[in-house]
Amino acid sequence: MILFKDIIGQGETIRTLRGAIEAQRVAHAHIFSGPKGVGKMTTALAFARALLCLSPIEFDGCGKCNNCQRVELGSHPELMIIKPKGTSVKLLQIRDMSSGLQFGPKEGTWAVRIIDDADTMTPEAANSLLRILEEPLPGVVFILLTSRPQAVLPTVLSRCQQQHFQSLSRQQLIKLLEASNNYLPKDILKVSFLAGGSPGVAQALLEKDLLIRDQAISLTGSLAVASINEVLFLAEEYSSTKEGLLLISDMMILWFRDILLYNETGNASLLVNNDKSEEIKALTEFYSAGWLMTNIETLERAKSSLAASANIQLAAESLFLMLAGFDSVNNWQRG
Ligand SMILES: [Zn+2]
Repeated sequence: MILFKDIIGQGETIRTLRGAIEAQRVAHAHIFSGPKGVGKMTTALAFARALLCLSPIEFDGCGKCNNCQRVELGSHPELMIIKPKGTSVKLLQIRDMSSGLQFGPKEGTWAVRIIDDADTMTPEAANSLLRILEEPLPGVVFILLTSRPQAVLPTVLSRCQQQHFQSLSRQQLIKLLEASNNYLPKDILKVSFLAGGSPGVAQALLEKDLLIRDQAISLTGSLAVASINEVLFLAEEYSSTKEGLLLISDMMILWFRDILLYNETGNASLLVNNDKSEEIKALTEFYSAGWLMTNIETLERAKSSLAASANIQLAAESLFLMLAGFDSVNNWQRG
């Protein structure tokens, strides 16, 4: 169970939230923004524990009482978490999570409502939430989580106290992964370069044993020689989830950056994938700097449009066709 005191790298946010509890000035609506996997949900749950705990210690949960345990198990009646159903958070979910709240918490002092990926709220859902936030209910705390605050309705945003979550430094990330006692030091070191300061990404990588990274590397090789039909087949294979495709795209960007970096500096110690320096060295012969930069830009663009897109396969097809050198759907000529 992670409490405020266990959270690494978000010192200012934790100080602000604890300070608000101490001063009895807890805002009724918060928005936690920042990259995926950086600890927004973990912090929201620690906040819920600190508010609901029966014997709090220095404005943090005790981790032992019945309420702290029930938050851990997801069974506390005053805590509700909603996530997108399909691709969006729907009106009915907002109605469900707010029903009965006009009478305040049924148990204890606080009721906590967490909305994950709040940027995916439909306009109806966002407007319904806005009406609730316009007339704050005593004892009710909403926490919205998002990696794209710019996509949240500005009127909703303006009613929330915003906490921005930073990516962790590599040292902080290593410390956190070591503290979990679940992974080998050599694996922690390897993913600490790849994870971009995100504990969630690091854990996903560790749990999949760097499989995704290796898949991404082999995918770049396959795309370079694939026919159109093969590209479309690969796109189908890689479009089962948005998160998966985003992660593969991130790994491909790091891979291309490494080849580009080695091409320009010849220094293997600068590489993110430094366990693959021989392969990278060999590839600098094949890929021009211009080609690598174009592909990195293509991937960056695809990532932002993918975040807002509902059709993963279509996004994957268009991305993979471009990476394979087929300019566009209308002009299937390898560039
Ligand atoms: Zn407790």
